[in-house]
Amino acid sequence: MKIIYIAGDGRSGSTLLDSILSNIDGSLSVGECHRFWIRFYEGETRCACGKMITDCELWSDVDKQLRQRFDDYAPEQFKKRVQEIQQYRNFKKIPVIVVSEAWQSFCEQVKAFYEIIASHTKNGVVIDSSKSVSWAYFLEQLAFSELYIIHLERNLPSVANSWRKQIVLPEYTSKEVYMPVKSIVLSTKSWLKIKVMAKRLKRADHYLFVSYEKLCAQPDLWLQKIKAFVQEDFDLSQLHMLPTHAIGGNPMRAKGDDSIKIIPQKDRFKNLNAFQLVFLKLVNGFAKTFLS
Ligand SMILES: [Zn+2]
Repeated sequence: MKIIYIAGDGRSGSTLLDSILSNIDGSLSVGECHRFWIRFYEGETRCACGKMITDCELWSDVDKQLRQRFDDYAPEQFKKRVQEIQQYRNFKKIPVIVVSEAWQSFCEQVKAFYEIIASHTKNGVVIDSSKSVSWAYFLEQLAFSELYIIHLERNLPSVANSWRKQIVLPEYTSKEVYMPVKSIVLSTKSWLKIKVMAKRLKRADHYLFVSYEKLCAQPDLWLQKIKAFVQEDFDLSQLHMLPTHAIGGNPMRAKGDDSIKIIPQKDRFKNLNAFQLVFLKLVNGFAKTFLS
């Protein structure tokens, strides 16, 4: 089994990268699958395949098999543990967690979760755009699959600008739920934290850093690099928005199966004032010099 994992901040273009990777022959893109334990059991959202998540054959099989294989499978408790792993203060404890007795059953269930997903693919390639750096680190430490981590980073001013937009989540069917909106301070803090934590991922066997801006400015070059990195077959000249079983992610998905166009970004920063923009550009430059 191979997991191609997109790590990075929200609003960094992961939907685009995920859509590109979905074109790998025989692969299956499952979006932010670490949200399964929230989304499946609240039962209020659609899977990207169009069905309600509880009716989707992939996710209902995952639920069924986890219950069959593990007597102690408890989704509510599982959800809490997924959240614990993602807490910043627990990041350094992850190598201890994966070998501890108390977490053993959880770890086995996570492995089974991915194995069940992989059994639904033609070639065992799972595309996971969970983004969480902690979850990537956890999977790396679990060491149960070939893990290819693509760390996608977008410049801080663009990320902060985007976090201030109000965007409705299209996958909720019976109520309006918005993506979270973050202040400049909050988005700066989380962007910096992600950058610092992601340094640890560089030690993984397969790690590639991709700048969203560079990908958009030189798509041919970067698509070749990504293809060489993942060591999988796909036709870069015919990239399409393909049906997936993605959980969560950006509303861009809802537009359907058009061909994928990668265009250079024109940053207009509509949601930032001049002072904020200067501040964010300074932090961005500083971080790229001293934290990379
Ligand atoms: Zn589905």
